[in-house]
Amino acid sequence: MNTIIKLFFLIVIIPEIIIAQKTKNNYKYNIDLLHMSNDEVRVSFSPPKNNLKQGRFIIPKLVPGFYQAMNFGQYVSHFTATDKNGKKILTERLDKNSWLIHDLNRVKKISYQVADGWDSLEKESNEARSAGSMFIKDSVSVINYNSLVGYFEEMKDIPYQITITKNKNFYASSALNYQQKNKNTDIVWAKDYRELVDSPVLYSVPDTTWLKIGHTKVLVSFYNKKERHYSKTIAHEIENILKNQQAYLGGTLPVNKYAFLIYYESSNENGYLGDGLEHSHSTVCLYRSGNMKFIPHALNRVASHEFFHVVTPLNIHSGEIQHYDFLNPVMSEHLWLYEGMTEYATIHMPIKQKMISLEDFEKSLEEKIKGMKEFDNTLSFTEMSKKSMERQDQYMNFYMKGALLGVCLDIRLRELSNGKIGTQDLMQMLMKKYGAGKYFNDNELFDEITKMTYPEIRTFFRDYIEDTQPIPLKEYLEKAGFNYDEATGKVTTLPNPDAKQLALRKAWINQ
Ligand SMILES: [Zn+2]
Repeated sequence: MNTIIKLFFLIVIIPEIIIAQKTKNNYKYNIDLLHMSNDEVRVSFSPPKNNLKQGRFIIPKLVPGFYQAMNFGQYVSHFTATDKNGKKILTERLDKNSWLIHDLNRVKKISYQVADGWDSLEKESNEARSAGSMFIKDSVSVINYNSLVGYFEEMKDIPYQITITKNKNFYASSALNYQQKNKNTDIVWAKDYRELVDSPVLYSVPDTTWLKIGHTKVLVSFYNKKERHYSKTIAHEIENILKNQQAYLGGTLPVNKYAFLIYYESSNENGYLGDGLEHSHSTVCLYRSGNMKFIPHALNRVASHEFFHVVTPLNIHSGEIQHYDFLNPVMSEHLWLYEGMTEYATIHMPIKQKMISLEDFEKSLEEKIKGMKEFDNTLSFTEMSKKSMERQDQYMNFYMKGALLGVCLDIRLRELSNGKIGTQDLMQMLMKKYGAGKYFNDNELFDEITKMTYPEIRTFFRDYIEDTQPIPLKEYLEKAGFNYDEATGKVTTLPNPDAKQLALRKAWINQ
């Protein structure tokens, strides 16, 4: 009898102790999506146990993936701290994004309100809504935790427990696992602030479809005010893109779970507006258009680009990204890689996987060339990357010239390796060397890639990415049997390519 009782205690009590230890030093947050007023959400939290006389509480100035200050602290109001008896403790707002809290060791609860940020983000940061949060009572919420949740500068790298009060028929679509405590309450954990901000959530009546691509579970979640059964149609499109990406990436997708959170807003405009922000295991895609027929086309570009970010920066990134500072981030010099190579894969994959014709591929090269001409192409790409916050006027060139640098690097690698190695292989090698948990030093990457490939590649990086030599597009496209007319911007196949040019073309784009 005694033994049985002891065993019983062992079984029951030990998990309790583990849970108690696990939660003792967490940030414990409560977010109420049910009782909001004026599209404002009530947020409160208890800080981790500490002995601090004071602490600086921070809401991000900007987030990874964007290179402009968005000042998420501006949506926070009614900030108060109280002790265990409910008595107010002194707080001071230091600037747009931070607060000084006195007697932090006595603080039991901090509470504040957060306003919907979409309208002002659109005005201030043109189409950067995908990084912000929006709430419509009893209808839908898109949450990027950087606008709802913060951290103390003195207490970083601490887990988060978030309890969310929500409408009983709402479902949390996210890459994180939300657990239902009861009909109106979900709980979710994140190992640290970085992971929480990296995992947005869409709360609504579910319109969701799950896919299995190889070993990867993919959630496709769709929201539109009127159309409530569209995730299946979209999932069909995404499945096609992802299967091709899987083949392009050598047979496996480098994530176990991934979520597409797609928010579609009907409007009277012609064409469509697309805004996406990539995360390690999910992407937020926002579309606005007068006609739903644009969505599949828009998805092909936006979803494909955002998903390719699982390669870089998720698996290949510098220390600046690994240790991201949400208040004063230091920029890496390798945007040519994070955005340029990602956009290059997005235009290269469709031709390599025979999803489009050679003419379509020529057109996409022409679009990039035309786009590049809108910018100052006499600037060093590594310097521009370091200064991406100040040089917003040039930022979009990382998607234009950046992608064309990918074209040239791929052709050069194929040329040097007799067709055997291209940028696809290079990215695989870099993923193996680094991966999600390991970063490279900004100033060593070019030498590391050179060691993995050919000495000539160091010259390529020096001339066209570090220095300011014009991109050798004409010369390089000719190596693969294309003519690029610099005056008109037209790209066409050469009428009589030789065997060497044809072999290089075959290795490069499978044509
Ligand atoms: Zn991107």
